[in-house]
Amino acid sequence: MPKNYTLTLVIGDGIGPEVVNATVEVIAASGVNIQWEHAIIGQQGIHRYGVLLPIESLDAIKRNKVALKGPITTPIAEGFPSLNVALRKSLDMYANVRPVKNFPGVPSLHKNVNLVIIRENTEDLYAGIEHEVVPGVVESIKIITRVASTRIAEYAFELAVRENRKKVSAIHKANIMKLSDGLFLDCCRNVSKNYKSIQYEEMIVDNACMQLVMNPQQFDVLLMENLYGDILSDLAAGLVGGIGVVPGANIGKDYAVFEPVHGSWPQAAGKGIANPMACILTSVMMLRHLGEPEAATRIETALETTLREGKFSPQDLGGKATTQEFAKEVIKNLR
Ligand code: NAD
Repeated sequence: MPKNYTLTLVIGDGIGPEVVNATVEVIAASGVNIQWEHAIIGQQGIHRYGVLLPIESLDAIKRNKVALKGPITTPIAEGFPSLNVALRKSLDMYANVRPVKNFPGVPSLHKNVNLVIIRENTEDLYAGIEHEVVPGVVESIKIITRVASTRIAEYAFELAVRENRKKVSAIHKANIMKLSDGLFLDCCRNVSKNYKSIQYEEMIVDNACMQLVMNPQQFDVLLMENLYGDILSDLAAGLVGGIGVVPGANIGKDYAVFEPVHGSWPQAAGKGIANPMACILTSVMMLRHLGEPEAATRIETALETTLREGKFSPQDLGGKATTQEFAKEVIKNLR
């Protein structure tokens, strides 16, 4: 008996509506029955409710527990704080999960990459505690706690076991930030002792960047704080074809919001040039989370077929297909 789901949909800003709507069509074609409840965040929230992160939108995610979300534009060096950070903290979605791997037909710097970045999502410099001490001097405070570091380490090791992965690499800068990154590392070490079957290693973040560029195949699960995770996941995306092809998820005890790694790319909004692949793969993660592994695998296979055939490659992958044309071809291969 097929299940019926009601989930929350945030189409987002910039290229968000194009990639999210294309993804919704792909999911519908897979046969999974989802009723979407629309929620708005950001500038659209101001227009409708007078606030950036409307309580109605938070309630919609809380009610349905799972959401698919497009990217939201955050002003640079001025204006309101990141709504993504606010959303992740409000719903205590502490684990940001970003799998990075090769796909057939996607031009990439490296082959045989298959790693997953586990990024702590609620603290670090993203606590957003900044102030001016005196004119010309500002302070930005990095918060690291034992509770948050331990639970993200546990999440990483549990994922390694679940996905039959072999190694967890904790990435840090504890040679300089001895207290904060030192505490993070101490928690990772302690948790690692409970997972004897998983190899554990530690690597300083600058070396990790070089190792990722030179030899990414050595990595399996990468575990890190918020800022390093943000930066290294874009770096890792660049190894396998760019940010248009990497999915992501924010997972907490009670709620999960699935969103691609990429941003709203405002310059491309409405032009039909955004690659919907990252968002489609994000929905694959969401379907697995919902307990729909068959539909997830069918979508992934249809995507791979489309990429392998190469007739409808998106523009960032060297082709000419628009967002819609690529999604339509995935749907055709799904059927
Ligand atoms: P971006 O990801 O929007 O764009 C960077 C580059 O990546 C683009 O120039 C483009 O070449 C490429 N790109 C991104 N998405 C693509 C796609 N679907 N297909 C093909 N190529 C793609 O990052 P940015 O320019 O640093 O940020 C723009 C805005 O997005 C900012 O306001 C930022 O705060 C926001 N942002 C939001 C999220 C989120 O909501 N989760 C994440 C990252 C950035």
